[in-house]
Amino acid sequence: MRFRSTRGGQDSDLTGAILQGLAADGGLFVPESVPVLDPASIKGESLAEIAAGLLAPFFAGSELEAELPGICRDALDFPVVLRELRGEPEALAVLELFHGPTAAFKDVGARFLAALLERILPRGGDRGRRPLTILVATSGDTGGAVAAAFHKRQGIRVGVFFPRGQVSPRQRHQLCCWGDNVRSFEVDGSFDDCQALVKAAFRDPELNGRLRLTAANSINLGRLLPQVAYHAAAALWYFRRHRQRLSAIVPTGNLGNGVACVWARAMGMPIDRIIFAVNSNQTIPDFLSTGQWRARASKATLASAMDVGDPSNMERLRDLFPELGDLRSAVQAYPVDDDGIRAQIARDYSRFGAIWCPHTATGFHAYDGLPESARRGSAWCVSATAHPAKFETIVEPIVGRGIDVPPALAAILRMPAESIPLAPRLDELRPALADWA
Ligand SMILES: *Cc1c(COP(=O)(O)O)cnc(C)c1O
Repeated sequence: MRFRSTRGGQDSDLTGAILQGLAADGGLFVPESVPVLDPASIKGESLAEIAAGLLAPFFAGSELEAELPGICRDALDFPVVLRELRGEPEALAVLELFHGPTAAFKDVGARFLAALLERILPRGGDRGRRPLTILVATSGDTGGAVAAAFHKRQGIRVGVFFPRGQVSPRQRHQLCCWGDNVRSFEVDGSFDDCQALVKAAFRDPELNGRLRLTAANSINLGRLLPQVAYHAAAALWYFRRHRQRLSAIVPTGNLGNGVACVWARAMGMPIDRIIFAVNSNQTIPDFLSTGQWRARASKATLASAMDVGDPSNMERLRDLFPELGDLRSAVQAYPVDDDGIRAQIARDYSRFGAIWCPHTATGFHAYDGLPESARRGSAWCVSATAHPAKFETIVEPIVGRGIDVPPALAAILRMPAESIPLAPRLDELRPALADWA
């Protein structure tokens, strides 16, 4: 399969699109056309098996085609669970995406990208023998997932940049505990400063040439494709059990999780309606209601991993639905403010005995905001994007109890953490990376 830029200026094969991340014309890579499959043709019960069947058309003709099942087994080796909730008259389920090493769904995409790159790089001949360097700016979850996924992988080094004092203590630990091929920089500045520093390193010919820089941000196809697979798997599991299509509520900010769900439905998977739950950053719902795209600076909210004012993946969505009317019938968006998040966490703790992270809470708030006819008319599933123990300083006071830390996260918290303080300037970064040849 070939992939083209949403801006029409480039096309590429799969491995090229993954190595490049962003297309040369600034657009995002999308499949030339979305492949449509018969759901009954997808075999297997585990996420890894379903992913291998579902993603096969994207890998057709690629040098990695034969390795896809192995990549899926390697990357998707932790449980993804569709749990049906009791206590509601209507059918409601939660898709738990937080059982990976860093307790957020970012593990899915980061581990898949790592498994891909580890197999692509040795094929590059001489060029492939020199290590590749991933630089990642993070506001919290992405950096930890990328560091965990690439830790000790051959031929790849990782530099993580995070803003000092602006990540939770547990997130900070996840960013700084790796060592070996991972180096963590605690930047004296904001997330935007971290991002600007990474971009400046990319534009610097000496650094980029010597380190062979690459990006692992969420616009990379290698992160998006496995996310399509978990939305497909949830719908297939539900359909096999109940012979009914599942409607999805997806907490999203940059629209990675959202577009993945839309692609799963476009591929013919038994998904009915799709609702994006967002926080007070309302660029997406405003666009759906007015037709005007108004990107803006992001606002800090309790669901911080969704604090995005200019969601990049909107470009992929508008590519699939160029007409506003079609887009409006395809998806809806529902904004939830911080008061709504707090109230939802409290409400669902008493209703289901379940504790959500702030991001997941936006999804359940959206569910409760549906008209009763919509709740009765379909079976619904909310994606749970992170484990609440990662956001214990927000969640514990609301539910009035401590939250058990999952074993993988506890293991990370026991490791010693080390970071390099850094001013957000290239002349400070250069010597800190001098020993990476
Ligand atoms: C990254 C993240 C999101 C939002 O993901 P998108 O790619 O913007 O859809 C939601 N919840 C958590 C916990 C995250 O880490």
